[in-house]
Amino acid sequence: MLYILSSPIGNLSDLSDRAKQTLTDINLIIAENPLYSKKLTDHLGVSGKKFVQFAEHNELRSLPMLLELLQKEDAVLISDAGTPGISDPGFKLIREAIKLNIPVTPIPGPNAAITALCASGLPTDKFIFLGFVPKTEIKFSNEIQSAVDLEATIIFYESPHRINKTIGYLATTWPDAKVVVARELTKMHEEFIRGSALEVAEKLNSRQSIKGEITVVISFK
Ligand code: SAM
Repeated sequence: MLYILSSPIGNLSDLSDRAKQTLTDINLIIAENPLYSKKLTDHLGVSGKKFVQFAEHNELRSLPMLLELLQKEDAVLISDAGTPGISDPGFKLIREAIKLNIPVTPIPGPNAAITALCASGLPTDKFIFLGFVPKTEIKFSNEIQSAVDLEATIIFYESPHRINKTIGYLATTWPDAKVVVARELTKMHEEFIRGSALEVAEKLNSRQSIKGEITVVISFK
């Protein structure tokens, strides 16, 4: 069995009872970042786990070895934070495990995109998740336009170093779009910067610096 385990995106209390029990029971942990995952098992007071790394830089190399292990024993797949496979390594391992008839089961929990969406106050009936958006204005605008055509709320991830530029691109073409920049969700400095694209661009530009993890939600309705 491959357990796909969601872990906290900030607040450790968001780890579910089922996730805790699985991390306690299962010996093999396939981790994007074994150091982060070890902190989590230490927090739970469990020790003696076998950690194997599955990260973007080694996923193709480590795939055959992991599939061999999975045919012999159960394992937990855990990413740096949040839900494995969502802008995180995991998809290829899950796909190949299914091909080999290895049972796969999710242990749902935190995910930055859905957490930002539900608190955004923007329409949730239809949404599209774009992962990390392109860096150039033309490619970014093309991607946003496709989502506009779908009449869906847009969710994407962005780095604090690029957020001003990206919201600036948005404000140039869609100044009235409704925007929520969700920063440091579930953490001590959680913040929602809300307004039109133009207003949010001005708010961001008025700050000396923007820090932390960011998810953006946009609606055109
Ligand atoms: N798998 C993760 C999930 O389920 O949310 C996402 C992993 S992706 C590599 C990391 C990005 O998610 C960050 O760069 C940021 O854009 C967003 N993110 C993660 N934690 C966040 C938080 N606490 N607040 C806002 N955005 C967050």
